[in-house]
Amino acid sequence: MSCDDIRALLAARADGELGAADSLRMDAHLATCSACTDAAVQHDATVHALRQGLRAPGLYAKAPADLAARVRLAVQAEAGMRPALPSATRGRSAAGSPWQRLLGWLITPSRGLGLGLGAGALAAVALGVGVFVGRPDTVALTAHDITASHVRALLGARETDVLSSDRHTVKPWFNGRIDYAPPVTDLAARGFPLIGGRLDYIDGRPVAVLVYRSAQHPVDLYVRPEAGGDTDPALRTERGYQLMHWRSAGMGYWAITDASADVVQAFERAVRGN
Ligand SMILES: [Zn+2]
Repeated sequence: MSCDDIRALLAARADGELGAADSLRMDAHLATCSACTDAAVQHDATVHALRQGLRAPGLYAKAPADLAARVRLAVQAEAGMRPALPSATRGRSAAGSPWQRLLGWLITPSRGLGLGLGAGALAAVALGVGVFVGRPDTVALTAHDITASHVRALLGARETDVLSSDRHTVKPWFNGRIDYAPPVTDLAARGFPLIGGRLDYIDGRPVAVLVYRSAQHPVDLYVRPEAGGDTDPALRTERGYQLMHWRSAGMGYWAITDASADVVQAFERAVRGN
């Protein structure tokens, strides 16, 4: 590693994000280079001061006690479950959708939120709210959540909680962990060997995930009870991942992979025994 390499990695090191190999290389370099050691000490001191600064009580404000209720009401109003926000909020704001009124209310300094809330936190609130703004499409939201969950599992090296190609091992593993029994089939003969299973959380509920492989590609099958009648499999793409969703006998099935659409469609036919 050159001194330039070391300087470029100082931030990652301070954030604890450096891989083991880079960490060792950096330690070896720092042991012999006083200029980089000085730079590292300086950097760590800056990060430390920044972290201390971000803890200053003046940066934080307590959300009003009724904020959660107001957000809930606004969501219900947007979803058409109620005619509008309560009269207190209606009267205060100018015209606009309930969302515009809600956001306006959130960032009004006199409410105590706008001044105190850090920009990042405010953006997070706006983004969290923004997910619902366009259309309250629960299938799209679930597809989004499942993609995030799939990516997290791949990144976090927790792809499986139970590692077994034997469906008689995987199926009982879910007993007592969830309140339904996902059908588990070995699809090795169709080119999709079973690798294992894990639990994930979608919409705040634990969901069974069956982990398969197609060549080198992981294929996850999320299975959970879903209301509504049977549906035909529908393909959708989310951030480059291919998803197939269908409902059958009260269960919702979500297959996801980074392989091609052909693969996820072949997988869906194998799961359905077609
Ligand atoms: Zn150096």
